[in-house]
Amino acid sequence: MNNNAADSRCICGSLTDMVPLSLSLPVISRQTDLPHSAYDWLNQLQDSCWIYVPGWNPKRRRVIVTLLHGNEPSGTEALLAWLKEDVTPACDLYCLLASVATALTPPEFSHRMLPGSRDLNRCFAPPYDDDCGRLARQITDDIAYLEPEALIDIHNTSGSGPSFAVAMDYSPRHLALISWFCNRVIVPDVRLGSLMEVDAGCPTITIECGGARDEESLQVAYQGIHQVAVHEDIFKSPPHEPEVLLHPQRVELKPGVSVRYHEAPCEDADITLWPSIEHCNFGTTGIDTSLGWVGNDGIGLIQALDRDGEDHASRLFRIDRGWLHPAMPLKIFMATSNPEIATSDCLFYAVPAD
Ligand SMILES: [Zn+2]
Repeated sequence: MNNNAADSRCICGSLTDMVPLSLSLPVISRQTDLPHSAYDWLNQLQDSCWIYVPGWNPKRRRVIVTLLHGNEPSGTEALLAWLKEDVTPACDLYCLLASVATALTPPEFSHRMLPGSRDLNRCFAPPYDDDCGRLARQITDDIAYLEPEALIDIHNTSGSGPSFAVAMDYSPRHLALISWFCNRVIVPDVRLGSLMEVDAGCPTITIECGGARDEESLQVAYQGIHQVAVHEDIFKSPPHEPEVLLHPQRVELKPGVSVRYHEAPCEDADITLWPSIEHCNFGTTGIDTSLGWVGNDGIGLIQALDRDGEDHASRLFRIDRGWLHPAMPLKIFMATSNPEIATSDCLFYAVPAD
């Protein structure tokens, strides 16, 4: 990892465009001989780097970040596909491929972060004193240097599901930017140290373009990248107004609680959730829907803390003879059936469906 701004270097592709040398991470000018697969491309790049795509107007810049999580390939695949189209963007485009080494670690595109490392998209807040923190700091510094007019961070959801955006604000400029990708935005009220919380001086959005294995995800990412690249004014004439879902609750396991995903209650875990919980990512989940089995310990196994630390779990959920149900119709997002992600991150997000 390149931890020293003085090491900054430019690895030029076949084009001889001028690239700024003041970024702390390597900058690679748009390549003309791109490989077929995202894996081969990352193998050429080897580590975190910027891809610089010169636009018609070099005085303005837009930034696209992807691969903060090594197991979320759609942004990288979409960017590769779009670069192959050889389209000149309206203004300069800087695209960051973040966790290249993580994605390349076998099996490829399977590690959110490397074993023993922190989640990079939780490192955009102090302290910056480990490798992940230093990389987050370099990314933040580079973005500040670039002074972009828009910052977009492309992810896959942990489970299968439709695309949506996450943003700390829902101003008309945020909504316009989101509308090029999807039609729904979640505005959280808790801060986790993610990139979108950084004040980049411009509208900043996260795009969750759907699950890594959902066919639509690549299309969502590709279309969004293309639209954001080619439009002269991305804040004017958005295609539609996204739905805004304010302050969803992040639903987590309490510390030390174990979870399994299985069709029937498991004796060796505190909570059993159904593997089909990812279906709840679509539409509304009613009060009759069982999400899983919590047994005698009931609601005390999970928590839904707001920014003041108040727990909303017993308001959002009810227990019926050991089965976990919504206490009101809920819109559920980012439900995963991966126990590691459920334990290290969260079970899902939920907001009342009214
Ligand atoms: Zn992610």
